[in-house]
Amino acid sequence: MNERKISDVFVSPRSTSFKCSNCSKGDAENRCSRCTAVKYCSKECQKDHWVKHKTHCNEIKRRTKILAKEAETLRQFYELEDLLPGSLFKVAIGIFWRLVEPRNYCKERLGLALKLRSCGMKNNSKLALELSVEHMLDLIWLCRGDNLGVRLHIPSILCVLGEVQEAYDFLKWWQDRDLISCCYDMKLPYCNLKGEDMYESLSELKLSNHTDVHWYVDLFLIKYKLIRQLKLDKASYDAFLLGTDPKLGEDSPVMKLSGVWLALENIKEAIAPGMDKRIQTLAIQLVALGKHIDKVNKFIIPGLLNSSVLLGQQTPQYVAAGTQNEAWNIVDYEHLNWKATPNVLYFLKKLYIGMHGKRQALKNIKELPLMSVCYCCQCGCSDDESSDEEDMDDHEE
Ligand SMILES: [Zn+2]
Ligand SMILES: [Zn+2]
Repeated sequence: MNERKISDVFVSPRSTSFKCSNCSKGDAENRCSRCTAVKYCSKECQKDHWVKHKTHCNEIKRRTKILAKEAETLRQFYELEDLLPGSLFKVAIGIFWRLVEPRNYCKERLGLALKLRSCGMKNNSKLALELSVEHMLDLIWLCRGDNLGVRLHIPSILCVLGEVQEAYDFLKWWQDRDLISCCYDMKLPYCNLKGEDMYESLSELKLSNHTDVHWYVDLFLIKYKLIRQLKLDKASYDAFLLGTDPKLGEDSPVMKLSGVWLALENIKEAIAPGMDKRIQTLAIQLVALGKHIDKVNKFIIPGLLNSSVLLGQQTPQYVAAGTQNEAWNIVDYEHLNWKATPNVLYFLKKLYIGMHGKRQALKNIKELPLMSVCYCCQCGCSDDESSDEEDMDDHEE
């Protein structure tokens, strides 16, 4: 089993150097002493950024205090009363939820992690994102059954951090687990998959109709990032090939390779092995993922493409599979990440048009019904006809 070193309230970031959250200059030295989740290159930048950072800063500070209090209460309950000899954070690893008393602590820790994530996305702080994901990985280590659904947040943050391989490995590890025994047998591996083949068939992930649709949304983004990188590699290889063109490459040293196809093929393989085949495989997988997402929840894709309308609605109180409320939750969590990924929304829109035809697809995106929480069936049905028609986000580049 991979041992994970954990602490009860504070976590350490993965990287050692961070950019200034205000001006994006590298290697910022000053860490905000209140929340410790953002860094600045100077006092001036910290001051300039305060208006933007204030809300997150206060909230992270407040939540950290509450978490520390919860941890102390737990320590007193178990250790002073001698109910569980040894530190709770050593002897009760993996079964925190089953003990019942630590549940509040787990909830508070997830709350803090989500605030840190939000600070990371909205305050331009990689540091906050790293702290967030470490809290979440700790939570899964402490509560192996993950009753709070922390796992659903992890691949997305890893993607923002550029750790696409780790996101895929995590997702596959979760899918690979024996769901029953993992909650009881703490000797089973924890996050032990590394460097899994991200191009492999979707069937390797043991996805089913019971798999949370959020997983499919994450997987779509992972696969999209892969295909985009391959397409960029292909474009640079094609540019390189121009050097072998008798006219364009007249003065190019690459010209010497003209006609030496074996050498050119070797170079192509070195840039990205199996490039053409991989692009084709990923394209087929993306279509399959898109179709599945749309089948299980028809609001998610229009919601991602028109997030301002969907998220303009009040936060849903109840969530059920296939509803607008579920789409609201996923889009609320994912939209900044998707917007920050070049071209993915344009790609998704094209795919959606391919699935429904242009007229119907654009209608669905534009007329994404306004959310109203339906307390009878949780279906998000609404007889409110007075929907404001906000302009659709223009995602095309
Ligand atoms: Zn700065
Ligand atoms: Zn702060």
